[in-house]
Amino acid sequence: MGAQIIDGKAVAARIKADVAREVASLPGTPGLATVLVGDDPASAIYVRMKREDSAEVGIESFHHELGADAAPAELTALLGDLNADERVHGILLQLPLPDHLDQDEFISLIDPAKDVDGLTAVNAGLLMQNHDDAMVPCTPAGVMELLREAGAELEGARAVVIGRSILVGKPLAQLLLGANATVTHCHSRTRDLPAVCREADVLIAAVGSPGLVTGDMVGDGAVVIDVGTNRTDAGLVGDVDFEAARERAGAITPVPGGVGPMTRAMLLVNTLRAARKRYG
Ligand code: NAP
Repeated sequence: MGAQIIDGKAVAARIKADVAREVASLPGTPGLATVLVGDDPASAIYVRMKREDSAEVGIESFHHELGADAAPAELTALLGDLNADERVHGILLQLPLPDHLDQDEFISLIDPAKDVDGLTAVNAGLLMQNHDDAMVPCTPAGVMELLREAGAELEGARAVVIGRSILVGKPLAQLLLGANATVTHCHSRTRDLPAVCREADVLIAAVGSPGLVTGDMVGDGAVVIDVGTNRTDAGLVGDVDFEAARERAGAITPVPGGVGPMTRAMLLVNTLRAARKRYG
């Protein structure tokens, strides 16, 4: 019997409709600033999609582009201006930055109240403390929505997260812990990854390695969320061998059409939240 396919596109569309309704009821217009540094074509596409999403739900976007050789002082000044700009409620600094610009340094310059990517140390700390004010990174926040959609029972469940990045794996493990799951956090040094994965009621792969999670690593009835986004000759694929895993999983996300659309939707949710706080 095949697994339930968790439709990220449909959930994202619902969330976007909710955001649009709420935006319309605010006393002012939420604003999202996007900052693109350099000429990475993939980054340019991501930023364009984020601006289109914003327009769809009534969020005003303020776009800024700096050249690949931008001086650190230029980016520092821009982020300072955006922090001070009352029309801007969220700041999205598209990553990666060109090599000569220290990513952590520039993330730390973003006002935590406008940090809609949830990457500043302040927001990571608030999340660690289970604080309601934490701005949660978009991908992990989207994964939690998909787990809700799948009806996954998290309380007391065994959750295995593969990947420990600041962007995805670490915040996700915190969120699962906050939802009272028993979390095992795996990474490149984990011994016997297949055995650990087989124990999972909820299995989340956030690695960037196509086919890392094979069918025999999925426990019967597990909920499998594939965050991986890998461009291959066969097109866009995740970290999970989808066809084999769906034979054993209870529910599973496809790639594309699973986590990706949710990441985009949650950026709008975070921008709305930031604006709502400002409008009181
Ligand atoms: P990352 O920073 O490169 O982190 C990858 C993690 O995977 C690391 O913690 C690494 O362990 C671990 N890892 C590597 N090889 C492993 C192995 N053989 N077994 C177990 N763990 C292994 O990547 P990221 O930014 O978190 O992104 C992960 C994936 O999600 C990528 O494919 C990315 O494109 C995708 N992504 C998708 C979305 C979306 O919206 N769909 C959003 C963000 C990211 P170590 O720490 O030990 O090195």
